[in-house]
Amino acid sequence: MIDSHCHIDFADFDADRATVIAECQQLSINTLVVPGTQAASWANLLALSDAYPAIHVALGIHPYFLDAFQAGDLLLLSDLIATHRQRIVAVGEIGLDGSLSHNYARQLEVFSQQLELASTFALPVILHHRHSHNDLIRLLKHKRFNFGGIIHAFSGSLQEAQNYIDLGFKLGIGATITYQRAVKTRDVVSQVPLDSLVLETDAPDMPPSGLQGLRNSPLNLPLVLKALVALRQESEAEIIQQCRRNVCSALANMPR
Ligand SMILES: [Zn+2]
Repeated sequence: MIDSHCHIDFADFDADRATVIAECQQLSINTLVVPGTQAASWANLLALSDAYPAIHVALGIHPYFLDAFQAGDLLLLSDLIATHRQRIVAVGEIGLDGSLSHNYARQLEVFSQQLELASTFALPVILHHRHSHNDLIRLLKHKRFNFGGIIHAFSGSLQEAQNYIDLGFKLGIGATITYQRAVKTRDVVSQVPLDSLVLETDAPDMPPSGLQGLRNSPLNLPLVLKALVALRQESEAEIIQQCRRNVCSALANMPR
């Protein structure tokens, strides 16, 4: 299995990162996709991908971390991508967060610039959304972005899901579907084609139902899988295999 989105580079895992990664292998979670969040995270991500064959990294600036953004960050990002183009899986985590209204104009600007960067290097993107589907879809179309990627932690309507699928994106499915109250997302996930879904944990955030308040971990990926199997018609084996294939086709430089 592949955890298509976790932040195992965060300090939350400093005490036991190697143990968690070793335990993942025992659960057949042998690939972890770790997106970047800000310039200060990039060197460490590249070092982690050197240290752990399981770790595959994306580089990008997450809207939550825009307050740390400095002139020169986009140039540094461009230089790092050029140097490491053969092992970076995407530009990410990039996107728009409508709950952070104080710098939304800046978010639009930095997101657009990173989309252009992804196009320049022919790389997919890992997208963050929150109250922002309309702007994301509008900009992807406006920029004629056609390298696809993953819309992480997808929640939204069937129509919104279809819009992303039409633009070449896979839907990142995380622990939201382990909560019975997530009626709309569970319903959409049960209806879209299996070849549009990828599994993720978003660790250390978004713990599954029953583990609220605890650090989330890629070790919880089987709980997301279990919830997905319960919502779908296909067998567990088929879902595992297809979700893995979907991540490998959505992202660049993935193990085959
Ligand atoms: Zn994330």
